[in-house]
Amino acid sequence: MSKAIQPVLIQGIQPGGQLTITTDVENYPGFADVIQGPWLMEQMQKQAAHVGTRLVTDHVVKVDLAQRPFRLECDSGDVYIADALILATGAQARWLDLPSEQKFKGYGVSACATCDGFFYKGKEVLVVGGGNTAVEEALFLTNFATKVTIVHRRDSFRAEKILQDRLFKNPKITVIWESVLHDVLGSEDPLKVQGVVLRNLKTGAFSEKLADGVFIAIGHSPATELVAGQLEMKPNGYIKTAPFSTATSVPGVFAAGDVTDDIYRQAVTAAGQGCMAALEAERFLAAHAEERAAAAAAAE
Ligand code: NAP
Repeated sequence: MSKAIQPVLIQGIQPGGQLTITTDVENYPGFADVIQGPWLMEQMQKQAAHVGTRLVTDHVVKVDLAQRPFRLECDSGDVYIADALILATGAQARWLDLPSEQKFKGYGVSACATCDGFFYKGKEVLVVGGGNTAVEEALFLTNFATKVTIVHRRDSFRAEKILQDRLFKNPKITVIWESVLHDVLGSEDPLKVQGVVLRNLKTGAFSEKLADGVFIAIGHSPATELVAGQLEMKPNGYIKTAPFSTATSVPGVFAAGDVTDDIYRQAVTAAGQGCMAALEAERFLAAHAEERAAAAAAAE
């Protein structure tokens, strides 16, 4: 980046994002050995600081894209003004939205095995989902739990073959196919998960199962609340960008990573899009340098 650019990275409430709550990363280029997600994000943070990025620990609560420069308000009350903006707010875990799931959230229902798995040492847990996250979480939970049951709504996983192979080989894991979580059962005082009711989608039959913990791993939704109604979105809620570009419908606003990518959603593709967004933002600023100089002179 040219010296004239002063990049600021507002890190939000989960600096480093989803990779900080994952464990093994095996598909990020450049590492022969398996690396850890939190370690990778630490390296990225150090690198960003090293090349002159100002890292801010704050959470953006309001974004105004109606005019340039854009205005961002933070939790602390601080306000940032930006000539170009890159949105890389990522995605958040999805929930089934069952009343009992919401009731026991934090009391035996979780969406993060790496955060909460330790609490299930010697216990039995259930994982819902059939993608990479569900299979990885199930495998991770075998480090603590005596028994892990994975419940999937279809008769095959969409997770990568290598992960599936590992899952099927693990004696602690049982799979229940073509079934969904119908209800979470537990005690009231203290609030505590004790079991689940599953529904078989083929037969319609309900069955009860004992479980001390339930992990929901059914995918992620893009974190777009801040810019809702201000940018064009894809029908599925992800930020729309121009083909082969990170440019959004508002000139000067770029989007990278899971907030816009509904196809690949990998650390390496997010990093690649981040690079694209930085280059496009730099070109945008250079192309509008005169406009900005005139605005600055008028403000003096
Ligand atoms: P995902 O691939 O979208 O999988 C979501 C899973 O949840 C699917 O199996 C889906 O079932 C199931 N599901 C969705 N809604 C459901 C509902 N209402 N009830 C029951 N089941 C439901 O999500 P993900 O596993 O979180 O992965 C997201 C992205 O991150 C993917 O691109 C993945 O490759 C990537 N990722 C990569 C790694 C890695 O490379 N190490 C690790 C984690 C995630 P269906 O199969 O029937 O649709």
